[in-house]
Amino acid sequence: MLDELTAALAAVLPADSVITDPVRLRTYECDGLTYHRATPGVVVLPETAEQVARVVGLCREAGVPFVARGSGTGLSGGALPREDGVLVVTSKMRRILEIDLPNRRAVVEPGVTNLAITEAVRDQGYYYAPDPSSQQICSIGGNVAENSGGAHCLKYGFTVNHVEACEIVTPDGDLVTLDRMDPGYDLLGAFIGSEGTLGIATKITVRLSRAPEAVTTVLAAFESIERGGEAVSAIIGAGIVPAAVEMMDALAVEAAEAAVACGYPRGAGAVLIVELDGPAQEVERQFGQLKELCSGAFELRVAAGAEERAAIWKGRKSAFAAVGRISPAYIVQDGVVPRTSLPRVLAEIDRLSAEHGIRVANVFHAGDGNLHPLVLFDDAEPGAGERAEAVSGAILDLCIEHGGSITGEHGVGVDKAKHMPRMFSQDDLDTMQLVRCAFDPAGLSNPGKVFPTPRLCGEVPGVRKGAHPLVESGKAEQF
Ligand SMILES: Cc1cc2nc3c(=O)[nH]c(=O)nc-3n(C[C@H](O)[C@H](O)[C@H](O)COP(=O)(O)OP(=O)(O)OC[C@H]3O[C@@H](n4cnc5c(N)ncnc54)[C@H](O)[C@@H]3O)c2cc1C
Repeated sequence: MLDELTAALAAVLPADSVITDPVRLRTYECDGLTYHRATPGVVVLPETAEQVARVVGLCREAGVPFVARGSGTGLSGGALPREDGVLVVTSKMRRILEIDLPNRRAVVEPGVTNLAITEAVRDQGYYYAPDPSSQQICSIGGNVAENSGGAHCLKYGFTVNHVEACEIVTPDGDLVTLDRMDPGYDLLGAFIGSEGTLGIATKITVRLSRAPEAVTTVLAAFESIERGGEAVSAIIGAGIVPAAVEMMDALAVEAAEAAVACGYPRGAGAVLIVELDGPAQEVERQFGQLKELCSGAFELRVAAGAEERAAIWKGRKSAFAAVGRISPAYIVQDGVVPRTSLPRVLAEIDRLSAEHGIRVANVFHAGDGNLHPLVLFDDAEPGAGERAEAVSGAILDLCIEHGGSITGEHGVGVDKAKHMPRMFSQDDLDTMQLVRCAFDPAGLSNPGKVFPTPRLCGEVPGVRKGAHPLVESGKAEQF
């Protein structure tokens, strides 16, 4: 079946856009979550939206599943390929199609990197606000699929707040545009964060933001994470909404230091990065308040200019990769708790870490309670991986117990699908599947992700029987 499809794909795509060589296929066997791996049946590299539509149309005709992939930096296995399917990689779709400054919009192809958008408009005093730490390489298509966030999302919101429209290829192979201005249901909102399960984005209209008049970046070092946490509560309690409030504990600082020599204060139990931005006078006033609110810090540094600001951010932005310097293997966890629960949850994580003999480095968006515990282990040590998994899962339980969520920004993917029933009832999950079935009745778009139990669309209560020929013929994928 795949051989026939491969020949058909080669006929509609430019030369060297269909990969079947086993060595080259292995390049695509995982995303940033390296412990889930599968070799794709075939990889295609379309150059235009029309080519994506043809690829998806051919997959649909053949009843073969397909998975979209941007830069493969995802941390929940969302772009994990299918051995019996087609991986649609957007890396040849990297054109910025239009920059419309009077309307503060840019239209880009899905493979364009997040940072490339800002770089294209920086000189004119604009930028693209959502800033995942992976922004130098992650694609805007991946950002849309994951509704990605970043350090500055505390003040400016997530991807969903910065996308005006998306042209998508539906799982049936049709090219349609979902626009924020469309009357009726917010289908664009449903698509953003759908993790590649509702189709493939082929053109994205993003909102551009005006660069702020003033930016002040402060690094505060505390003896302990508790003292740092108190400062965060005080800052938010005082009504200040900083652009970013990021915290790293001693182990995360140690890792960042080892990797990029970021020069953070020695002996810090916690490092807090607070960025204020806006009109110069307001930033000046807030900075005065901030100094007082951080009086528990044993050192306070203020970036004198862009270079020092970049140096402060370097440690934080490289933290995930940096833990590789202090541990042979690690799990990047992603969960959310209400900000006020942070001190209790961090103390519980400490307890779990001691109980299981597993080190945990904490990096988090402190302003909105989005935790990224990095669970460190030695994969050569028998049983260490299982203990790390246990700690990682128990952290998610803590997030749920405290009224939070099993993911803040990295998505559900394949990795957290099994945790979904811990947050949602079967009725909730069925309702979500109804949305999925409306877009993708044949279940061919990134099956096996998000939902815990593989099911045919026809098995979901409420789906109209006979809705789709592939469902009727039993050819449809379970997802
Ligand atoms: C070091 C590091 C730091 C990170 N920091 C952050 C952070 O601060 N904030 C954050 O939110 N995330 C972060 N991430 C996670 C990751 O970078 C984001 O999820 C990013 O949006 C993924 O983009 P990508 O192009 O790599 O997508 P991929 O990994 O290729 O794919 C991710 C998902 O998107 C789907 N997809 C990809 N392209 C399309 C498309 N065109 N249409 C439809 N679906 C598509 C895939 O099927 C998959 O489900 C980080 C990752 C790393 C490795």
